[in-house]
Amino acid sequence: MLKFCTLASGSNGNCTYISDGKTNILIDAGISATRIIRELSMLSMGISELDAIFITHEHGDHICGLEKLLARHETPVYASPGTARGIGERIECLYGKINTALPGDVITIGDMKITSFHTPHDTYESVGYRIENEGATAAVATDIGHMEKEILEKILGVDLLLLECNYDKDRIRHSRYPAFLKSRIVGGSGHLSNNECAETVLRVVQSGTKNIVLGHLSAENNTPREAYTAVHTHLTNNGIIPGVDVMLTVAPRGERGNIITVGE
Ligand SMILES: [Zn+2]
Ligand SMILES: [Zn+2]
Repeated sequence: MLKFCTLASGSNGNCTYISDGKTNILIDAGISATRIIRELSMLSMGISELDAIFITHEHGDHICGLEKLLARHETPVYASPGTARGIGERIECLYGKINTALPGDVITIGDMKITSFHTPHDTYESVGYRIENEGATAAVATDIGHMEKEILEKILGVDLLLLECNYDKDRIRHSRYPAFLKSRIVGGSGHLSNNECAETVLRVVQSGTKNIVLGHLSAENNTPREAYTAVHTHLTNNGIIPGVDVMLTVAPRGERGNIITVGE
């Protein structure tokens, strides 16, 4: 069984709580430590009950609460070697204190197995994570410049997928963002658009996934409705009915999402 809940998901901060009922982990700590502790307490969780924190990459929207959270409680942190280096460059006191795992390595925490996979993004070594407990599987895949075979292999058929649905192509074209920022976001090492996300969701749902959470939405270049509609339309055009064949939801950007439980 896996219990899954986004504490925040979007370009301004990312943190996801995953538990098998005994072992508790976070993926990313990109909101303030105070908020993380408050949101966990709403889930009847104390910070001392956290067993590990897995970081996808060193951008501020994934690590900004990490230092203060660790000051409150020394939870083991895991990241790729490149991300550990990136974190150390940004937060000096964490240099050399991050446990490293290469993409593809399996880390066992209690009865949970966590496997990272490479994601194309403008950092040293970004990853996503696949989490397993007694046959239940979930994956977190955000900050993806373009979809790759290696990512698909890891996310196809999981029970629950949190997938990036970052921007609407027309919105970003007409946005007030400077040209360099627009090309960074839409480039191969930036973020996944609504349409690119929809194509991936279709493949994942066709492979058996029953729970899709759209996440890491841009505040400027997307809305929950546009993200949902893009994916919903692509699924229905291909004979899949959201709400019947698959649960499709959007993770709120600035607040806790619903708790989703998969597996027995
Ligand atoms: Zn991000
Ligand atoms: Zn990023």
